[in-house]
Amino acid sequence: MDRAKRIAFETVDANARAIALTGDSIFYFGELGNQEYRTADLMTSLLEEEGFSVQRGVASFPTGFVATYGSGKPVVVIHTEYDSNPDNSQQPGIPEPRPIVEGAPGHCEGHNVNAAVMIGAAIAIKRAMAECGLAGTLKIVGAPAEEQLLSRPYMVRDGVFADCDIALHPHIGSELSCTYGLQQSALVSATFTFLGETAHAGVAPWKGRDALDAVVLMDTGLAQFREHMRPEGRMHRAITEGGQQPNVVARRAAVWWYFRDPAASGARELFEQARRCAEGAALMTRTQWECDVLSAVWPMRSNRIAAQTVQRNIDLVRHPVWDAGEHALARKLQERAGVAVEGLRDKTPPFRGQARQAASANDGGDVSWVVPTAKFYFPSNIPNIGFHHWAAGVALATSIAHKGAVAGAKVLAGAALDFLADPALVAEAKASFTEELSGQSYECLLPADQAPPADLNREKMEAFRPAMQTHYLHDKPVFV
Ligand SMILES: [Zn+2]
Repeated sequence: MDRAKRIAFETVDANARAIALTGDSIFYFGELGNQEYRTADLMTSLLEEEGFSVQRGVASFPTGFVATYGSGKPVVVIHTEYDSNPDNSQQPGIPEPRPIVEGAPGHCEGHNVNAAVMIGAAIAIKRAMAECGLAGTLKIVGAPAEEQLLSRPYMVRDGVFADCDIALHPHIGSELSCTYGLQQSALVSATFTFLGETAHAGVAPWKGRDALDAVVLMDTGLAQFREHMRPEGRMHRAITEGGQQPNVVARRAAVWWYFRDPAASGARELFEQARRCAEGAALMTRTQWECDVLSAVWPMRSNRIAAQTVQRNIDLVRHPVWDAGEHALARKLQERAGVAVEGLRDKTPPFRGQARQAASANDGGDVSWVVPTAKFYFPSNIPNIGFHHWAAGVALATSIAHKGAVAGAKVLAGAALDFLADPALVAEAKASFTEELSGQSYECLLPADQAPPADLNREKMEAFRPAMQTHYLHDKPVFV
């Protein structure tokens, strides 16, 4: 192992406690997308204290940031997310549903650990660059509201990644792994709002024009269409406004849809079909309708050279050694969640090479079409447990998450240093990236004048923050 990497790995090991405390603090903040104020404060203050120059409020996202260290080429960027999800508050270490605060948001995937891995690696890479006199720029991008697939298409559009040569994206999983090719799907996120007229629903319902009827008819239209769409596509929705009380015909109703497809063009076609259904529903109900595209993302892809570089570092980093208590917690949770009971995985799987494209999406997808990227996974959660469920919150502030984060931070630091130290490797990644795209050109799916919804989740977060605050950790992470 070269000197720079040794320094980085030693820095991660020496700061295992601070990395753990970073992830745990963010776990208890449990902040929803675009409301990650405490989280972003903690992350940016740690980076600033380390000597990074920090720009906050990037691309009109108050909780987004860019932190930079060094100068010149190559520019290696690390980006990740740190938001929670609604109604998934869960006490760590308890293998049964037990909210910290009933009904509150909570981390139920592990973006809190993504943040800890990014901070731990950033500090380790910076120390190695400084001590070994490595040229180049390390850029750390904090990407808000991943659960709403929100920020990175806007950031790409606004040039945040324009100077970047290589991008690395750590994400929680249950093993250390990386693949290349198309990994995830494209997605369009849009709200449809219908406007009618109120009336007394008992006395004079014929005078009303019911916006909720329009939402229901649009839903029926898309439900019928499901038979005729390609099997890889997905559509799902939440009715966000459905009238206020039964005896007042709903003047206003709204539904929020996600449309997924393996290709950006396919997601856009589903969205166009939804627009036709909205138009039809409005005609039938004599209501007006409007549509707001909140976000639209390209499918995540990883570059072969970048993925192989990450894999070489996975091979170098020791897989976490789990103790009996950690295995027991994993087995109990798997039993309780009704999934295959296998405990934790003791070994890193062999390199899988080509990815199998999943129905999941990540707004980092857009970055991966403009910068050669590797998205990789680190073992801080429990195998077979599905995300967005109380069970996926159980490991996230325990020693399982902490040990996985140390492994993840080392892999991330090692891969970044490989690129910073070797311009030829960067050139090779770029050349293979051009080949992989084979003429397909990225084009932002967002409407040209679209602005991000800065108020997203504000009310929901404000309702729960006072009760959640009483559980915040008091110690601040200190990196030595
Ligand atoms: Zn995620």
